[in-house]
Amino acid sequence: AMPNLVGSEERILVSVRVRPLNEKELIRNDLSEWECINDTTIMYRSNLSATERSLYPTAYTFDRVFRTDSPTKQVYEEAAKEVALSVLSGINSSIFAYGQTSSGKTYTMSGITDFAIADIFNYIEKHTEREFVLKFSALEIYNESVRDLLSVDSTPLRLLDDPEKGTVVERLTEETLRDWSHFQELISFCEAQRQIGETALNEVSSRSHQILRLTIESSAREFLGNDKMSSLSASVNFVDLAGSERSSQTNSAGTRLKEGCHINRSLLTLGTVIRKLSKGRNGHIPFRDSKLTRILQSSLAGNAKTAIICTMSPARSHVEQTRNTLLFASCAK
Ligand code: ADP
Ligand code: MG
Repeated sequence: AMPNLVGSEERILVSVRVRPLNEKELIRNDLSEWECINDTTIMYRSNLSATERSLYPTAYTFDRVFRTDSPTKQVYEEAAKEVALSVLSGINSSIFAYGQTSSGKTYTMSGITDFAIADIFNYIEKHTEREFVLKFSALEIYNESVRDLLSVDSTPLRLLDDPEKGTVVERLTEETLRDWSHFQELISFCEAQRQIGETALNEVSSRSHQILRLTIESSAREFLGNDKMSSLSASVNFVDLAGSERSSQTNSAGTRLKEGCHINRSLLTLGTVIRKLSKGRNGHIPFRDSKLTRILQSSLAGNAKTAIICTMSPARSHVEQTRNTLLFASCAK
């Protein structure tokens, strides 16, 4: 049988993961003032001024809060697995990592992607009554410009409106995924491509969004009568977002400003879209306002499943950014 989805309500699963203090933070005694008081609530422990108290809550509650000692496997199991594997039932899904640069987005998302792909291969191996075709693509959005991470050609790709499929990325490479080692190969290739961009333009990865997309088509080897399960197709998207710190940076100049605006546009639009989706899926949702939300529209709208993992540093020096992250997460609930 297909994976059983617990709870069918159209809600966004929102979690927060606290990374451990790093060596630099430990050395300068940049001590944490955040405390995970249970599996769903994180609290700010410091004494707040009256102004701060009026601006910020001290306790934030989410579907899950992961402490510094929670392994990625646990984060995957409890905050992403169900959403990711819904692709096997023909349901589109997206998993996002949101947070400031160096809060652990890539660490978390790459681990989650590995666990999900491994589970998907396992599932396919066990379900010989169906035939599966896996297609893998990878892209980066930087300055509202889309780049294929599975190609050495870095020419920006255009978005086209397909009457049936919705927004498609023109000429995006789609690799038919054979097995685990093929997946590893493709991931290494993407990482290399991302780093090439990085040397040309500093810190691209902190200002770009990365989407890894796996599309699964499956059909029953024997006709199952009128069953709509006889043929299924859906995509799961693993999204490593640009650092959220840019969205509050307004006074930079030149290209930085342009960059900031574009990242603002994608992240702010994503925020708006997610806020609207979390309050029910009716009314106008501005998917078309950014490349990120256009590309992900079909995986966010309708009966799609969404999980957001907000990553944060526990350091005192990051408290402003961390609050912004937690406020974003609160809005998505
Ligand atoms: P981001 O992608 O948000 O900029 P990274 O994922 O690159 O951040 O994480 C920054 C650094 O912190 C990396 O060296 C990473 O290995 C480490 N790190 C992040 N999260 C964790 C964690 N939960 N446990 C251990 N190390 C982590
Ligand atoms: Mg990163």
